[in-house]
Amino acid sequence: MTWRAEERRAVIAAARRTVERGVTHESSGNVSVRVAGGMAITPTGLPYGELEPDDVVVMALDGTVAAGERRDPSSEWRMHAAIYRARPEIAAVIHGHATSATAVSCLGRDIPAFHYMVAVAGGDSVRCAPYAVFGSDAIAATAVKALDGRSACLLAHHGLVAIGADLDRALVVAEEVEFLARVYLAATAVATPKNLSAGQMREVLDRFRTYGQQH
Ligand SMILES: [Zn+2]
Repeated sequence: MTWRAEERRAVIAAARRTVERGVTHESSGNVSVRVAGGMAITPTGLPYGELEPDDVVVMALDGTVAAGERRDPSSEWRMHAAIYRARPEIAAVIHGHATSATAVSCLGRDIPAFHYMVAVAGGDSVRCAPYAVFGSDAIAATAVKALDGRSACLLAHHGLVAIGADLDRALVVAEEVEFLARVYLAATAVATPKNLSAGQMREVLDRFRTYGQQH
């Protein structure tokens, strides 16, 4: 059996779900899971529908690709690696070009606390990281900063990132951020929505910690 076959299959299944659920546009995003000594990440330049387990790339967080891998990793591997280094508690990273989240990112705006589910990302906003060119150390650094204490962020003029303890959790967060972005755009098209207060958001965050996030 292929080395790390289970993790490779999980990465492919999650990558396909990002397209099915509107978390990315075609194969524009990338997906990874943490494995011992590094990560398993989608390859660059292959449609998700065509991926086979051996196309997923196992690599160390310093960029060293494991011996025998037949593909090059996603161009955003630096961002994934930087997130795993900065956040030892997380084990999955999803990056996508979801339509509405990307639209808000192109405005260079955080998603504010206009809806209580903004707390799904762990705070009173979904931060938007400043623009940096794709694939760079700079975008890796800005993403890590925008994710500080959070489980999702936008990347200006680019898309979204969601992280979690596993791929299912990261996918749920990514879908929720895309939903929030869609509602935020709809609301702001009519008027500027009123934001919940810091106290109201604290109350939601406390309930999430107590009851979980199924509301
Ligand atoms: Zn991207």
